[in-house]
Amino acid sequence: MRASKYFISSLKEAPSDAEIVSHKLMMRAGLIKKLSAGIYNYMPMGLRVIRKIENIIREEMNRAGAIELSMPVVQPAELWQETGRFDKMGDELLRLKDRHQRDFVLQPTSEEVITDIVRQEIRSYRQLPKNLYQIQTKFRDERRPRFGVMRGREFTMKDAYSFHTNFDDLKREYQNMFDAYSRIFTRLGLEFRAVAADTGAIGGTGSHEFHVIAETGEDAIAYNPDSAYAANVELAEAVAPATTRPTASAALTKVHTPGAKTIEQLAAFLKIDASQTIKSVIVDGDAGVPVLLLLRGDHELNEVKAGKLAGVFSPLRFASPATIRDAFGAEPGSIGPIDFQGKVYIDRSAAVLADAVIGANENDYHYTGANIGRDFPEPEVADIRNVVAGDPSPDGQGTLAICRGIEVGHIFQLRTKYSEAMNCKFIAEDGKEQIMEMGCYGVGVTRIMGAAIEQNFDDKGIIWPVSIAPFEVVICPMGWSRSEEVRKQCEQLYNALQAAGIDVVLDDRDERPGAMFADWELIGVPHRVVIGDRGLKEGVMEYQGRRDAEATKVAVGEIEAFVK
Ligand code: ATP
Ligand code: MG
Ligand code: MG
Ligand code: MG
Repeated sequence: MRASKYFISSLKEAPSDAEIVSHKLMMRAGLIKKLSAGIYNYMPMGLRVIRKIENIIREEMNRAGAIELSMPVVQPAELWQETGRFDKMGDELLRLKDRHQRDFVLQPTSEEVITDIVRQEIRSYRQLPKNLYQIQTKFRDERRPRFGVMRGREFTMKDAYSFHTNFDDLKREYQNMFDAYSRIFTRLGLEFRAVAADTGAIGGTGSHEFHVIAETGEDAIAYNPDSAYAANVELAEAVAPATTRPTASAALTKVHTPGAKTIEQLAAFLKIDASQTIKSVIVDGDAGVPVLLLLRGDHELNEVKAGKLAGVFSPLRFASPATIRDAFGAEPGSIGPIDFQGKVYIDRSAAVLADAVIGANENDYHYTGANIGRDFPEPEVADIRNVVAGDPSPDGQGTLAICRGIEVGHIFQLRTKYSEAMNCKFIAEDGKEQIMEMGCYGVGVTRIMGAAIEQNFDDKGIIWPVSIAPFEVVICPMGWSRSEEVRKQCEQLYNALQAAGIDVVLDDRDERPGAMFADWELIGVPHRVVIGDRGLKEGVMEYQGRRDAEATKVAVGEIEAFVK
């Protein structure tokens, strides 16, 4: 690329609404341009970065066996009504009407449409598993769009959806995606951490987020420096270990329930009817093993009012807000067991926990007939708080540390939440119809652009990882219009690098060196070669890496190898 023919639009000052460094630098370097709150033009320089991020994601998704397709941004409301999300998603879902007054939504994610495709196209177990993905525009009417493209209203997401004949196969694919995500963020050149996470509005059971570690991150992450334990504090506050271990009274019946992981399996051991009046919660036991909590009785969840909280049933503290929300069908913020902070409350005065089945904090055992107050001491509500550095790690090994992160990816085991609601079935090997198991896997493409900058900048500007830099090398001539020899050498190097497949920009704008250097440092090009008559007389060019304090003289014939 020749700079004179390209579109470069750097600004001296960042606009006043830019709060964090990546937003400021992206605006100043002319990568994005604001159109409306949370809605940005991706300018040519920024689009180059986005395309590189997309390509890395696409290559790794393809390598992992996923198949690309594209679904419409505008989607009919009927599908969203089938799953109930048309109403449940609240104000984040942008709804619109066409000329016939029919309802549509702008996709914030695409579970409904992909499930609709699969239920029509896939009939037999022989066609499964499948993992389908798109890299597509999303719209979420965020309450507080900010930080430029990091929390935009319109943004680009890679979203993948997998379909399976059974849970084990979903778990296999989940791990496959976990590994693919690790490769993606490694190739993007970012320092990241995978953490256990809440499942949010998307729902499901297991989930992990991938975070780019940065001080300005909106999320706090609790992790154990000495083990693999890491969780979003949203979740970690619910998994914080109890200060007092509940002790069960002798009145309880302990039942051996080997290997039981689902409501159905456990109900079979306990000889109770799982389909009737039982509400279940899967909780993490002390060993980090999922333990099932079953609540018996016809109680309505809206009996549990945040203001009237009397106690917290200890084992519930190991459940994530989303798990509980899914089990009880209550959204955070509604009257229910979860408040805006994602804290979990249970009203002990209602008969909610009387005669419940609970995990025994011991693998493969459960208690039946549990009653808080009688069988367990009542923990204080104040027990629930955000995890802080130095708290004991839930895996029992040492203590937790806290860092901040930017959520750039999120993977979920959806199980049958959508396939059941939308009747997405297949014919199994035995000829019978079964509901498909589903997973979904998101990456915030445009958010990554901001997150990469939050991790890599200095007082001069952006420092791109080479893999996503808009240009890898910039050639800066000293006296473009003055010196034929400089022009000739610049052209030669430019052609050689282009031929070698390197993204090179030749700054032929005839700018003063100071202005020229400042532009490319702001834009963050990782390698710079300066070519001037003085150096050429000595047979050298000057190379400077974006993080280098000084330039290095390199013999003319060796410069190519230097920037490759
Ligand atoms: P957040 O907690 O930041 O609101 P989310 O949990 O709502 O994100 P998911 O539904 O998990 O987001 O979507 C998958 C990915 O899409 C996220 O991991 C993130 O990288 C990206 N993403 C979500 N919301 C936005 C947004 N408003 N702007 C840019 N990227 C976003
Ligand atoms: Mg969100
Ligand atoms: Mg989140
Ligand atoms: Mg998320």
